[in-house]
Amino acid sequence: MSDDVNNGERSGCGGACSEQDEKRMLSECLNRIHHKILVMSGKGGVGKSTVAVNLAVALSMAGKKVGLLDVDIHGPSVPTMLNLTEERLAAKNDKMLPVRIGELKVMSIGFLLREQDDAVIWRGPMKMGVIKQFLTEVEWGELDYLVIDSPPGTGDEPLSVCQLIGHVDGAIVVTTPQEVSAADVRKSIDFCLKLNLPVLGIVENMSGFVCPKCGEITEIFKSGAGEALADKFGLRLLGKIPLDPQVCNAGDSGKPFVYHFSKTATAKAFESIIAPILALSEKHKSNGSSNQESKAMKIAIPLAAGNLCMHFGHCEQFALIDVDPAGIVTGKTLVTPPPHEPGLLPKWLEEKGVTQIIAGGMGQRAQELFVESGIAVVTGAMGDTPEQLVAEFLAGTLMTGTNSCEH
Ligand code: ADP
Repeated sequence: MSDDVNNGERSGCGGACSEQDEKRMLSECLNRIHHKILVMSGKGGVGKSTVAVNLAVALSMAGKKVGLLDVDIHGPSVPTMLNLTEERLAAKNDKMLPVRIGELKVMSIGFLLREQDDAVIWRGPMKMGVIKQFLTEVEWGELDYLVIDSPPGTGDEPLSVCQLIGHVDGAIVVTTPQEVSAADVRKSIDFCLKLNLPVLGIVENMSGFVCPKCGEITEIFKSGAGEALADKFGLRLLGKIPLDPQVCNAGDSGKPFVYHFSKTATAKAFESIIAPILALSEKHKSNGSSNQESKAMKIAIPLAAGNLCMHFGHCEQFALIDVDPAGIVTGKTLVTPPPHEPGLLPKWLEEKGVTQIIAGGMGQRAQELFVESGIAVVTGAMGDTPEQLVAEFLAGTLMTGTNSCEH
């Protein structure tokens, strides 16, 4: 690993960052990234990086400003898949510069290894430190999407990623048709639920085999794990990607599949995954909140007896707090919601122009509906006045705990 990156010199604050400085740098960086998408899997080898790379490339091909962050510490395969294994990091103004392929900005833990085969045997705090540096000290600039190739499983590393990034739009969970992988992926879904991280959907990879001679797809494993999981958890099956030798060859030779083989049926399958992700930014745009000139917010907070109500769907009132693009609170109104009915509040709050929700507890389905509406949600906030919660939210110091309401 290159010492200059790990010794804290490139700190953006002269090598002596206080916790407060780090928080500020993290929130400055994250505020310029409109959508953060985590690609997860229950275990390695199921095609998580393949999905992350092709999703990032496809979003970039669709004209979006995209960053791809590979924090898969134990198997950073993004440099290989994008033919970037010879790249080393450069820095400017105390910040690391992502490697660029066309408009796509890429940062990988693999760039920090002297040899691609270096075993990454860092201890927990070092891993956490590097992941943090990738968010605070990389010049990502303004991005529509940051696609994060997360470490597999549900251990400390994916947890660190989620905790650092905080407001992730959602996770894409990659699985294969076999039952073992499906069992692992259930853990990933539970992990997301516990962290209040919306699951944008499931991708069933290696689903059927594409014959390289005739193109016919043959089911070689029992298929349907993705559907069964999606049904069981009420999630969306984003798509099924067949096991296609061209995907493997493209990955090994550093050619992004969706770019070089865009006319194939397999590339179309990848496209089905990006459609709902693209819809996130379209929704966001129509709400006006991704417009760089206008970043005014309307923050909704559910209330009971004037303080934060821990059960979102059963609150007495909502405080709607207007914040101007400079982050100044300009107004507050109190509104009474319609009688409780599942699925009603997201639409009602969207109609009121809400762009952000600060909640105590909120069910998974409601969170998904808000994400689909382009409304950002923070859950796990703790009882306080709406003014205090908004002040902490704007200062980046809002403390969140577990989601206290699972329904
Ligand atoms: P993970 O990130 O889950 O460890 P990778 O994306 O690195 O998995 O994929 C593991 C291997 O499987 C790679 O060699 C990759 O090219 C290959 N692979 C992934 N998806 C497919 C697919 N749909 N068809 C053929 N090969 C695939």
